[in-house]
Order: sequence, then structure tokens, then C-alpha cells
Amino acid sequence: AGTLYVVATPIGNLADLTPRAREVLAAVDAICAEDTRHTRQLLSAFGLDKPLVALHEHNEGEMAARLVERLRAGDTLALVSDAGTPLVSDPGYRLVREVRAAGFSASPIPGACAAIAALSVAGIPSDRFCFEGFLPAKASGRRERLSGLAKETRTLVFYESAHRIEESLADFVAIFGATREAVIARELTKLFETVLGDTLGALLERVRADDNQRKGEFVLIVRGCADDADASLIEGQRLYARLVEYLK
Ligand code: SAM
Repeated sequence: AGTLYVVATPIGNLADLTPRAREVLAAVDAICAEDTRHTRQLLSAFGLDKPLVALHEHNEGEMAARLVERLRAGDTLALVSDAGTPLVSDPGYRLVREVRAAGFSASPIPGACAAIAALSVAGIPSDRFCFEGFLPAKASGRRERLSGLAKETRTLVFYESAHRIEESLADFVAIFGATREAVIARELTKLFETVLGDTLGALLERVRADDNQRKGEFVLIVRGCADDADASLIEGQRLYARLVEYLK
């Protein structure tokens, strides 16, 4: 009793709900969900029916206090989002904070997360990365955000929607340069799963040339800016190759 379970749900393929997630969802007194209709469908696919509480960005502050009262009364709760891991570009951090501040525990039931799934097949350095989530919707805000990231040496991970993928890619090309390496991971775990890796310039062309590449949900992974050490290593290799050539 008195625990909030933060439960990851699938990002497409229903079989990705873990057995433990199902067990926890079956056992709690109520489930806090972003979109209760969507969650009702997910639960019914697993033969579950539970009281649902709507928790979204606009009511999270006020709901958090009420949910903490339920924990105090001995209830066990779960938090889910529409897809993947709650709190990752999804509501929940305020609730989790209130729960812990009130002395109750927040326990993770890990599972799918689009950013991590994409990173796991990108083949771009993944030892250090920055999760940037969604870029601002307006072009000016987006360009400003990207300009601030142009010199970032860590791999960058972005979420993008179908109606902005082309526009965003064009901004990436303009600000990061056409030759920067990137990967578009689309519709992961779903029927039309596609992972395209190329330079930003070539990816923009492919997305422009094929309507299908603009459909669905996307994670964009962009290689970080080659840092100074890298740049001098490359320059050293170039000079060495020229020297070898010269001495032949
Ligand atoms: N909490 C979720 C997670 O753990 O990944 C992310 C929620 S965010 C509101 C939704 C965004 O995640 C989409 O616009 C897309 O960028 C990305 N996304 C979700 N499912 C995806 C999938 N199956 N393939 C690629 N990207 C996905």
C-alpha cells in the first residue's frame, strides 16, 4: 500500500507490455492515465478493467494532492502514459515529486521507450547522449533551439511528429550542415518500422521523395559535433597520409 507504480506501456507492439506491468496494472486500486479512453483500450486488450483517473499537464498539480491523499488512505496507484515510459516527453514528474515528498514510494516498472529503442539500433555513439524531446513547434523557436545545440558533441535524440518531420529536417540541414550523420527511426515495433541512417542532407532528400517516409511517429538521432580532439585526430591522419604518399 502507499506506492505509486510508474508503468511503461508498449510504443506500438502490444506484446511489449511486460508480464510484471500487467501484474501491477491488475493489482492496483486505480490507474492514472493521460488519455483514459486510450488506456481503457490498452487494458481491455489485456482483459483488465480498472478505475482510471485522468492526469494531464493541465491538471497534474491539483490532481497530485488528491492522489497523495489516496496513497495516505492505503490505496496503491499506477501511472501510465499513452505510450512508452511515463515522464519521458509525457506528464508525471510533478506527481512523482509530490508522492516522494509526502513520504510514499514511486516504483518503476520499466519497459518500452521510443528514444532508447531508437538509440539501440542507430549505430551512432551511444555512450553519451542528450535527450532533447520535441523541438519547439514554431520555426523561429526551433531554429533557435537547434543553433544552441550545433556545437554539442554528445549524440542528440529528438522526438518528431509526422507533420513536422520534413520542416525539421530542413532546419537540421541548414543549422548542423548537410554532412552530419543521423538516423531516422520510424514506427518502431510497428508494421512499417523503418530505420534510415545517412547524412542529414541525404535523409532530407529521401523523406522529400517518399510520402511514406513522412508517415507515423519518429525518433531522430543526430551524431554530435565532432569535437576538437576528433578534429585534430582527423587532421593528423590526413597529414600522415599525405606524408606517406610524399615519401613513396
Ligand atoms: N513516453 C514515450 C516514450 O517513452 O517514448 C514518448 C511519448 S511522446 C508524447 C510521443 C513521441 O514519441 C512521438 O511523437 C514519437 O516522436 C515518439 N514515438 C513514440 N512511439 C514511437 C514509435 N513506435 N516509433 C518511433 N517514435 C515513437
